[in-house]
Amino acid sequence: RAKEKGRNTFQLYTSALNERAVRRMTMEGELRKALERGDIQPWFQPRVGLRNGSVVGSEALARWIKPDGTVISPGEFIPLAEETGLILPLGEQILEQACRRVRAFQDAGFPEQYVSVNLSPRQFRQKDLVGMVERVLQRTGFDSRLLELEITESSLVQDIDQTMATLRRLREMGLAVAIDDFGTGYSSLAYLKHFPLGALKIDQSFIRGIPTDPSDIAITTTIISMAQSLNLKVIAEGVETLQQLNFILGLRCDEYQGYYFSKPLPPEAYLELLRQRKL
Ligand code: C2E
Ligand code: MG
Ligand code: MG
Ligand code: MG
Repeated sequence: RAKEKGRNTFQLYTSALNERAVRRMTMEGELRKALERGDIQPWFQPRVGLRNGSVVGSEALARWIKPDGTVISPGEFIPLAEETGLILPLGEQILEQACRRVRAFQDAGFPEQYVSVNLSPRQFRQKDLVGMVERVLQRTGFDSRLLELEITESSLVQDIDQTMATLRRLREMGLAVAIDDFGTGYSSLAYLKHFPLGALKIDQSFIRGIPTDPSDIAITTTIISMAQSLNLKVIAEGVETLQQLNFILGLRCDEYQGYYFSKPLPPEAYLELLRQRKL
């Protein structure tokens, strides 16, 4: 009887494994197709300058638009893309489309609009990242000074020499690099001083606790003042309430993004928002 039970457990286990493997392979195939068809596109979340409340630029966030119109979040396909290596062609496509779209916003009367694009660790480590970015800028005619790349702390600390070389070359090209989800990783504060960085983005988990959680208040205050003394721009992510906005305003944070102002928008809606605010 015990033996029988064991066998059943084993069968259950293998069939669950198969199911997972099959689902993964199906999803990988679908992701490839979506990539070929251009179904994965950047949406844009406004970034608001705290000095005068204007929309200074946006973060490009990947969305998979299924043929039936269903919108799939990056949390559901970026990890698989990262595992399979599809993140490299996908990342290049997102970067190129983000540059094209924002170039169109600039041409439509918003010349100072910048954009920031996320790079996963595997993208940041890819051979000839700098060359890829250079070619995209050339193809799209996008001004490198209006492009920011977002990397996480885990990308920073993997291979310090290579990181330094890549950051230097990006800086020479005129690009800014921001540390995304800052405060959640393991980067040594000492590195921040040496790396040529442009900005820190305070992780939204800290903003969420404002104004009630004393630790989140302390962490946010510390990150902002540290960024200021290191001459880095500082951006608050995930601002959802007026209290949170007022809190970071008081600390002279540079910019914020969050649902309080706007969710990520399809490009047409983003341009419409810029136009409305100009009136
Ligand atoms: P992230 O770069 O930290 O982006 C911020 C995420 O927070 C976005 O989720 C955004 O929609 C969400 N968000 C913004 N404001 C608020 C708010 O007020 N409240 C809440 N609850 N959420 C807010 P999204 O678009 O689902 O992206 C998730 C993550 O996927 C991104 O985190 C980024 O790490 C990754 N990702 C997105 N697009 C790309 C891409 O093109 N390439 C790569 N490599 N990763 C990407
Ligand atoms: Mg980001
Ligand atoms: Mg983030
Ligand atoms: Mg994130």
